[in-house]
Amino acid sequence: MKPHFFDYTPDQVVKEITAAGFKSYRSKQLYQWVFSRGITQLADMSNLPQPFRTWVQAHYSLELPRILHISTSIDGTRKYLLGLQDNSAIEMVIIPAGDKHTLCISSQVGCARNCQFCATASLGLKRNLHPHEILGQIYLARQQLGDKRLTNLVFMGMGEPLDNYDNLIISIRNLQHEAMFAFSPRRITVSTCGVVPKIYDLAASGLKVKLAVSLNAAVPGKREKLMPVTLSYPLEELKKALLEFRRQTSYRITFEYVMIKNFNMGNDDLKAIRRFAGDISCKINLIPWNEVPHLPYTSPNADDIETFRKKLERLSAAITLRKSRGSDIEAACGQLAGKYQQNKIPSLEE
Ligand code: SAH
Repeated sequence: MKPHFFDYTPDQVVKEITAAGFKSYRSKQLYQWVFSRGITQLADMSNLPQPFRTWVQAHYSLELPRILHISTSIDGTRKYLLGLQDNSAIEMVIIPAGDKHTLCISSQVGCARNCQFCATASLGLKRNLHPHEILGQIYLARQQLGDKRLTNLVFMGMGEPLDNYDNLIISIRNLQHEAMFAFSPRRITVSTCGVVPKIYDLAASGLKVKLAVSLNAAVPGKREKLMPVTLSYPLEELKKALLEFRRQTSYRITFEYVMIKNFNMGNDDLKAIRRFAGDISCKINLIPWNEVPHLPYTSPNADDIETFRKKLERLSAAITLRKSRGSDIEAACGQLAGKYQQNKIPSLEE
């Protein structure tokens, strides 16, 4: 199989192009076609000479994930089921908010972390995504948005991004590269369940990116139950890693806290959150738990949420309540499962 163009940096590509005997400015032209004009068909790249096009064709793949299905929520959120070359399936979600659009992307097919409240966990880990499969989601989303701008990118789809660390780093570098996706670092958020050694690596990498951590419980014993990753990396270890990350980077950390009725919304939970996060400059993002069939949890009602939010607000001013988007099409946080049976895919909606 040909290597994919998105897996390389422009520096690597220009080296290969000149080594093959072409002028270096051809590389720049190629990048302009692909990233400034959004063209991936070599036949359409009119200012490139035929021998160069033939060479590119032979050396790089420019294929994108295939759109297998699109579901549209009543709130405008769109969930895409995407097919990859080996026929595995992932999901991405485009969430509009006024003239802004956030893209939620997957980093793995399935996930190994087995968080007890999450739909992706039931798949287990199938495999890591290659950089081009991560970047392909963003490229596709931009095509889908047309003139509308993709403003924010969150690694909050299927998978644990820090378990696919090397490919994550390549992807983020290319996302931020001026000749490629030219994304501003503060518009990219990596969300983790708390893979401590990789948080240190990310802090030391020098890469600028925002970090979100799925806290979800801070009472000793409770988080272990909900998120088995805590057994490998206890909360005290996580906290040390986050303090180190803060020392190295300028962005505040976001804690995601999925509210589950009668489980993690009590006064003991509030105290534990304060103990854990009180001395880290951070934001806390409250997310009501979204239904996942067959799981033994209950979503909080509006009163539960409001009471919890108010109490938490007394601890810290930086609390936001994230509105659940796309839950009617199972596109909300933790509902992505890439259910994919080849002969059961309904026809494309759009
Ligand atoms: N593995 C990464 C990113 C994927 S999960 C992580 O753990 O952060 C993205 C977010 O969705 C996490 O904050 C997670 O706690 C949340 N989530 C998972 N299942 C959910 C559900 N059923 N309802 C609401 N949020 C959920």
